[in-house]
Amino acid sequence: MSVLVHLCLGCGHQSAWHEGGNGGYTPCRCCRAGTADPDPAPMLLPTSTSPGGIPEPLWEPGTRRNVGTMHASRVCGCVACHEAALRISRREHPFAAPRLVGLSGR
Ligand SMILES: [Zn+2]
Ligand SMILES: [Zn+2]
Ligand SMILES: [Zn+2]
Repeated sequence: MSVLVHLCLGCGHQSAWHEGGNGGYTPCRCCRAGTADPDPAPMLLPTSTSPGGIPEPLWEPGTRRNVGTMHASRVCGCVACHEAALRISRREHPFAAPRLVGLSGR
């Protein structure tokens, strides 16, 4: 599943890496310090299926991922993420976009 993340302006890593418990996985001093300086604009981390290489759908902003596992985390659900997700889903699924009602006259 593709996901939207905020990158730290200080070191360029995902702001989630700065949160408690994740510091052990990275040698980055900024991440280990535990205080991110997240970019307010989210970045898309695309994933694709393997095999197949088909782009995977986006995690809905605010969704909980991997509930009940060690890697439980929450997809950021801020306004910027919602807007970005909307833009992406419109682009990737033009036919799934909400239809404009009342403009066609039919
Ligand atoms: Zn950082
Ligand atoms: Zn870092
Ligand atoms: Zn966000």
